[in-house]
Amino acid sequence: AWVSEADAELAQPPVWEAGVLPEAKYQAFRHDLPLGSFHPGHRAKWSTHELCHGLVGFAWRADASPLFHATAGRLAELVPVVLWYFLDEVGLRRCPRHAGPLFRTHCPACERAAALGPAPMESARAEELLAEAARFVDRELAAVARTRRLQIPCPHVWGSIDLCSDGVAYAASHGLRLTSDAMHTFAELFLTRPGDGFQTELDAVEERALAVLAAIAEGAPLTPWTGGRARWVAWDLGQRLLQVSEEVDGSVRDALVGLAARLAEGEAPAAVADAYATLAEDAPLPQPEELLALGYAVQGLPGRSVDQVHEGLRTVCPLLCELEEDAGSSLIERFVEEDRWERVPLGDRFAAWLERAYPGPAAWLARFEASLRTAGGEPEVEVLAEGEVGSRWVEGTRRLRFPADVPTWAEAIERGEVTPEARDGALVLPAPGGPPTALVVGRDRVGELVIADVPAELPEAWVDDARLLGDLLPALAELGLVAPERYRG
Ligand SMILES: [Zn+2]
Ligand SMILES: [Zn+2]
Ligand SMILES: [Zn+2]
Repeated sequence: AWVSEADAELAQPPVWEAGVLPEAKYQAFRHDLPLGSFHPGHRAKWSTHELCHGLVGFAWRADASPLFHATAGRLAELVPVVLWYFLDEVGLRRCPRHAGPLFRTHCPACERAAALGPAPMESARAEELLAEAARFVDRELAAVARTRRLQIPCPHVWGSIDLCSDGVAYAASHGLRLTSDAMHTFAELFLTRPGDGFQTELDAVEERALAVLAAIAEGAPLTPWTGGRARWVAWDLGQRLLQVSEEVDGSVRDALVGLAARLAEGEAPAAVADAYATLAEDAPLPQPEELLALGYAVQGLPGRSVDQVHEGLRTVCPLLCELEEDAGSSLIERFVEEDRWERVPLGDRFAAWLERAYPGPAAWLARFEASLRTAGGEPEVEVLAEGEVGSRWVEGTRRLRFPADVPTWAEAIERGEVTPEARDGALVLPAPGGPPTALVVGRDRVGELVIADVPAELPEAWVDDARLLGDLLPALAELGLVAPERYRG
């Protein structure tokens, strides 16, 4: 409803692909919704970035111009960006090939290194980063001041960062939403005390941003927003109800606004959710399971949408999902209940959960299918490793061991030759035959899947340590599945 025709593709809901639900820039993110998203494909740094957004808040007012929205978005982005590129880099452990912040590249080795805890503090480097941060802030705020004085957007560009154009892009994708009736109603109901969680003046956002910066960089005290979690949950649910209210008329619309008002008055989300479910029984409204699945646990609400997770799993473990549906098991419901909050792709998380909850054929199939779709490679290996024998696994390769011939069995499943059964909600599959199998799955430079069999009788440790493959290394190097620790210089 709020997407201009020029941005038509943003109006399409994102589509699952190989177990990944992509999040387009400025599609899902809202400055006015202080909830950290948890996209398992995001880097860990994203959490602190979004926490920082919550601390800074945003600016909105009823008579705001598009340039106001653009500049408000720009100011709200300042400290989260400074945190990402400068402050977070202080004492951050990285892989040997990366010394500083990454722009677009995602480096799994850096993620693993950072998970080991902070690096020893190098004070000279820390001071340099703090000075760079201060310089960035000064230049950005000078450009914002110029923008406001001249009433034309004045950029400040650093690397690939341009908060001015980001702000304009935000105003473009969110303009219709930010000026909608629903947003006005939201403000009337929830945005009642400027300076607490939101601002109505650009100067006030700038001041708050600098206070957050001082708190992070210098440990200065910061006044927290009032209300805590319950307040942000009410905002989230309230925005959902009001968004739906834009699509309906008359008494249903009034009823939805009434439900949002009850949240604003402090009524428990569960009671409002019940009232919504009753309303949706006789009105053309989204299913309660869909609208009320906020994605995190709230008493009396569905939390995460089983249907949405199921839809995602169909794109990464299609055979297993088909068997699961044929048998009518409740596997997916159980998975959603027990799924862990990890930055691991959906298919791999599902396979790992099956391995814990129901070790056996279903888990093998899920692991096999997920690996075929999520395996990756390092495009540069084929170029740089010419003729060299590798000694380490290429990033993104999957190393699999099964007590039976799972690849051949998967083909039989595809032909419809395997009959599944549900027992106590669990999925029971007849055990596959064939000898134990071991394989490595990767992807070559042009993105083609590469699968290599390795002898199943090798000691299990080969899965982590490629060197145990000995004589097989040249053939695997040829396929781009293993690489040298160092390339010839
Ligand atoms: Zn941001
Ligand atoms: Zn790295
Ligand atoms: Zn110019």
